Amino acid sequence: MSSIPVFNTVASFREWRENVRRSGKSVGFVATMGALHHGHFSLVEHSLRANDLTVVSIFVNPAQFAPHEDLDSYPRTLPTDLSKLSELTVAPSFANNTSPRTIDAVFAPSVAEMYPNGIERDVAMQKGTFIEIKGYSHQMEGRSRPDFFRGVATAVTKLFNVIEPTDTYFGQKDIQQALLLRRLCEDLLVSHPKPQNLHIVPTARAPSGLALSSRNSYLNDKELAFAVTLYEALREGGKAWSAGLGRDEAVKRATELVKNRQEQAKASHVDLRLDYLEMNDPETFEVIDGHSGGNLAIFSGALWVGRTRLIDNILLGDHAKVLC
Ligand code: AMP
Repeated sequence: MSSIPVFNTVASFREWRENVRRSGKSVGFVATMGALHHGHFSLVEHSLRANDLTVVSIFVNPAQFAPHEDLDSYPRTLPTDLSKLSELTVAPSFANNTSPRTIDAVFAPSVAEMYPNGIERDVAMQKGTFIEIKGYSHQMEGRSRPDFFRGVATAVTKLFNVIEPTDTYFGQKDIQQALLLRRLCEDLLVSHPKPQNLHIVPTARAPSGLALSSRNSYLNDKELAFAVTLYEALREGGKAWSAGLGRDEAVKRATELVKNRQEQAKASHVDLRLDYLEMNDPETFEVIDGHSGGNLAIFSGALWVGRTRLIDNILLGDHAKVLC
């Protein structure tokens, strides 16, 4: 059993938040869809270290799943998530307060609570208010999942309005999402959090290098053995980029690595299918052409391993501009 207070309604969470406001304490916030793993915990630990209080939300957001995607099968493990969260403690980062910090509240609303007017899976049928980040949502992940960022931006805006975080933490694993949300805070003049208080935390990986993901639980043992292919490909391409060979050669080498692995996987009856591998500018998300890499590039991709779609990315160049 977890001892963390869990709020299922907006009204009950707001009561808690109102009391906290009077105390003047800072509130760090981590938004999740549950099925928690060490990638999520890394974000939570950043928040615990830097804030007086920490709130975690657990909400599987229907608006970010296309009708053909895995909303129904997405892992939902609330009791386990809560007990894992209740075990997380860190010492705060300043020296004069040494008592360890734990999570102060979990916000786990129902779909009806987050979408009081209902939510149609088919975007064409939806009515009401949605947040669209125009010009930046149809590159990279947005090419394969055209309505994904609209769903994310809408849900996260609602969460920001409820939680009113001082600081918030998103993962590099979903780099375009994190950068778009920072842009959203800038464009909509959001005060909680301020854009500069949206922090991006490096991707947590398994010892093999595989990026941790709730969707890894879909993979069987044989698929798991090939799931690291995407990261290996990104690293291979990244080496070419760092050697000054440019975007085309980097993408070519990474793609070749995937092709080689595809052959090996086939022998194990594992189906690997590349969705995309691309190198993009971190501000415009446009494809970086030729050698003009600038100081920083996102090298990202998506790979189907059987029926599971995995994404990953690496940052090439001056990481400090993005991660903080
Ligand atoms: P999700 O539950 O998949 O919506 O993810 C919630 C947050 O955790 C997002 O900000 C993700 O980018 C972040 N996250 C997911 N996997 C990882 C990982 N392996 N390392 C760091 N952050 C992650």
